[in-house]
Amino acid sequence: MARRLEQGPTGTGSPDAPEALGLDGLPVDPALIQAAAALDEDAATKRHAELADQIEAANKAYYEADAPLLTDAEYDQLFRQLVALEAAFPALVTPASPTQRVGAQLGGTFDEVRHRRPMLSLSNAFSHDELRAFDARVRRGLALPAAPEAAPDLRYVAELKIDGLAITLRYERGRFAQGATRGDGFTGEDVTANLRTISTVPTRLREGVSLDVRGEVYMPKSEFARINAEREEQGLPLYANPRNSGAGSLRQKDPSITAARQLATWSYQLIEDDAEAIGLASQSEALARMEALGFTVNPNRDSDLDIEGVIAFTEAWREARHELPYETDGVVVKVDAFEQQGRLGIVSRAPRWAIAYKFPPEQVETVLEDIVPYVGRTGTLTPVAHLTPTKVAGSTVARATLHNLDEVRRKDIRVGDHVILQKAGDVIPEVVRSLPEKRTGAEREWDMPASCPVCGQPVVRDEGAVRHYCANPLCPARVGQEFGHFAAAMDIDGAGWAVLSQLLQRGMVKRRGDFFRLTVEDLETLDRFARKSAENLHRAIHKVRRRPLERVIAALGIPQVGWTTAIELAHWLATEVPSGDDWLVRAAKLLRDVAASEPARFEELEGVGPTIAGALATWFAPGGPGEGVLEDLADAGVEVELPALRVAAATGPLAGKSVVVTGTIEGFSREEAESAIRAAGGKPAGSVSRKTDFVVAGPGAGSKLAKAEELGIPVIPPDGFASLLAGQVPNDG
Ligand code: NAD
Repeated sequence: MARRLEQGPTGTGSPDAPEALGLDGLPVDPALIQAAAALDEDAATKRHAELADQIEAANKAYYEADAPLLTDAEYDQLFRQLVALEAAFPALVTPASPTQRVGAQLGGTFDEVRHRRPMLSLSNAFSHDELRAFDARVRRGLALPAAPEAAPDLRYVAELKIDGLAITLRYERGRFAQGATRGDGFTGEDVTANLRTISTVPTRLREGVSLDVRGEVYMPKSEFARINAEREEQGLPLYANPRNSGAGSLRQKDPSITAARQLATWSYQLIEDDAEAIGLASQSEALARMEALGFTVNPNRDSDLDIEGVIAFTEAWREARHELPYETDGVVVKVDAFEQQGRLGIVSRAPRWAIAYKFPPEQVETVLEDIVPYVGRTGTLTPVAHLTPTKVAGSTVARATLHNLDEVRRKDIRVGDHVILQKAGDVIPEVVRSLPEKRTGAEREWDMPASCPVCGQPVVRDEGAVRHYCANPLCPARVGQEFGHFAAAMDIDGAGWAVLSQLLQRGMVKRRGDFFRLTVEDLETLDRFARKSAENLHRAIHKVRRRPLERVIAALGIPQVGWTTAIELAHWLATEVPSGDDWLVRAAKLLRDVAASEPARFEELEGVGPTIAGALATWFAPGGPGEGVLEDLADAGVEVELPALRVAAATGPLAGKSVVVTGTIEGFSREEAESAIRAAGGKPAGSVSRKTDFVVAGPGAGSKLAKAEELGIPVIPPDGFASLLAGQVPNDG
């Protein structure tokens, strides 16, 4: 049973008054405590259980599935209510309460790593007054005078709070040895292989020291936008923000997926094994030392500050942060001197010597004037909200994608609604929710049109799928965007939508090769074109006549095929098709043959599984959308630059070897076998070809085994797999 704290709230949060602290020492908003204290014990117990459940569910979605249910501001609000309730009813604090724990349970996908020192959370401050209250608390803890000028020895460091995923990196004698996520604060997930793919994680330090460094893995805003665009195109659920996208990308079983995403790190905490010998005395020195050792340390920081200096720092970054290429959701304020940090110590789940000031959420209210379906390159109809233009996170927003009909229904968004708008990851405008309380009755529900708004053909929704699409492959909207994508990806300067739509409407461009067949005279006939502009565009087109193969492939706009796959396909083609005359035509023939008769061969490409292989096969197969496209480009004079053949960059016992695993291998799932091959420097492949070096065949092996035998490729029995990984080829004789 909960017991009410008799004295109630203990202060106003002003620097001089003793301010409100929860039983565990967490700062609490007095107004929230007052509201909590008004409850009777039963109501408080019930409310506590409700809040704890909501927070647990939000934690699970956020930390384990990287797909949050709430916005951070909504989450923080619930968390503060819980802290306040526990301050008013201390008996409600149990070790199981979310206020006493960090992060979430481990998922079981990765090996566990016990942290040498716990990885904590931080207490939060949501206003400048709360920062001043923090300063007052620190002064009391250090028995310093309340007036800042009377205690010049208390200095703070202010760092941007990077909105990413906390990691810890272990270095042994200067070499990167292991990396882990925070997990539940005591035990994290071993993501060493994935961290090795991130270029800002040094593999060797400039000195042979042993240490732990903590930092944040993050995804740049531009990469977040690119990946979400790719996911939208593929009909996959979108990441809510760069933080979740970054966390999802790091926590991948297959390190090559992490490698394909542009993750980066900022380091902010140094724990040297031999700290005393180094003699570091403060956080500001530690930051400088990390930089000197080769870590990336965020340059946007300041030290030697009193609390007013800290507040000025938060103000300076409140707007300026939108210009940064990565997300920051606040400022972390730390007492600089380690000696003072030590005296303050930690409480519950956070150090007493640091606090995270959170920037106010950038959410604004506006009116949703209309919902308009846009037809995309693959025919998908995306409902787009037309909004009364309004300024949010540094720019004016008038449109926001609503993704699909299910999303419109789930958020109960109606035309005419007042809505809350924010920018996900500071880049993508997002309608957070509608405000039903502001409805007048004039709002109307929106539905997908039955026919395509562009070509009038029926709109289709596949069983169980979320997307509606125009199934007409010749729909002008689809064709227009395919060609627009082609022009943009080939980098034709000046071929914007205004030009493109005329070229398409007038039938001057019917196939992609037609761009290269246009003459200056043709271009001169376009609206608002004169001789000079026609010549410029003509020159721009001819400048891109010779392009790297991967760029041409990416420009084709094959569904599911982004840059990563385009690069792999280009390398594959360069190895499979001998160079020489008519290369593009010969490559097209190979693609058509593989698509028609052995589509699984596309799985030989790094990172390509059955789905992407299927998409490639559908596109290149006879009668598919890609039929004749490459031949047409070749005919129009397009030439490709082949990628340099890959030298086996990998090291390890299987360096440069292509290994196919088929049938059951005891002790390994298919993914585990593949990552073991990768870890040994080899290349796991999906199908057997002359390029295959070894086939590991367990019980249940079928056609791949037969093919290996036919081609005379060494076949390794399942119990020889371990030796193979160690570089010994079992003797089958
Ligand atoms: P936190 O994000 O408030 O702060 C602690 C973390 O800040 C540290 O663990 C570290 O990873 C990070 N950090 C970034 N830059 C740093 C720097 N320069 N120095 C030190 N640390 C730095 O706390 P938390 O426990 O990681 O997570 C709680 C927060 O996560 C919530 O306040 C909320 O914003 C978010 N969250 C949201 C949901 C949701 O449903 N939306 C759910 C759970 C958590």
